[in-house]
Amino acid sequence: MGHQVVLVEDEEDIALPLVRTLQREGHDVTWLDAGLKVLEHVAGHEVDLVILDLGLPDMDGLDVCRSLREQGFDGGIMIVTARAGELDRVVGLDYGADDYLSKPFGLAELQARVRALLRRSLPRDSRRANASEGGDPPGLRIDEGSRRVRQADREIALTTKEFDVLALLASRSDQVVSREHLMSQVWDQNWFGSTKTLDVTIGRLRQKLEDAGASERVVAVRGVGFRLESSRDDA
Ligand code: CA
Repeated sequence: MGHQVVLVEDEEDIALPLVRTLQREGHDVTWLDAGLKVLEHVAGHEVDLVILDLGLPDMDGLDVCRSLREQGFDGGIMIVTARAGELDRVVGLDYGADDYLSKPFGLAELQARVRALLRRSLPRDSRRANASEGGDPPGLRIDEGSRRVRQADREIALTTKEFDVLALLASRSDQVVSREHLMSQVWDQNWFGSTKTLDVTIGRLRQKLEDAGASERVVAVRGVGFRLESSRDDA
C-alpha cells in the first residue's frame, strides 16, 4: 500500500518529475505550491510524509515546518533546499524536520531518502519494548501498533524518527546503542553522511521525555552512543 505524500514545491519544472517518481513508487501524491495550502491540507488529511521546499512564494519553508509540528503533525518531514550552505544552520536550529536534502539532487537519491523515512525499519517485537500489560506502570508505554508513546495517561507526540529512536533504545534498555547502529536502523543502512540529524533528534526526544515527566531519560555515552535509563530502576 502506498503512502500519502505531500510535495511542496512552487516550481512546476521541479515538481512534476518528482510527482511522477513518487507515484511510480506507488504513493498517493498531493502537489502543493504554497505554505498556507500545506498547513490547511495536513490539518484535514492523513499524511505520512511532507517533502518541503524552503523557498516558497508565501511563507518561509522553515516556518511551514515549525507550524506543522506545532499543529501536531507527527509524520515525516523532509526539507529540500537550494540555499547553498544553509543546511547546517537549518539542521542546527532544529525546526522539527526528519531529513534534509540539498538541491540539486538526483531522483534516485530522493527515492532512497523517501523509502528510508517511510520504512518501518524496526522489527515489530523491538517496538514492544517495555510495554507492560495491566496495572498502571508509572513509566513510559510504547505501543508499536499505533506508534504511540504514553507517560502515565498523557500521550507524548513524537515524530517518526523520534519514535524509532526511542523504540530502539527501549528495546535495549540500560544498554548502550551505538550511533552507527541508530543511524543504520532508523535512517538508512547506506548512510555515510553527517550524524547531526541524530543528535538533533535525540535532543528533541530528550526534551519531550523531560517535559512529560518521564522517569526514563536518554543518556549520551561519550564516543559510543546512547542509552535509555530509568531512574525507577535505581530506587
Ligand atoms: Ca522554490
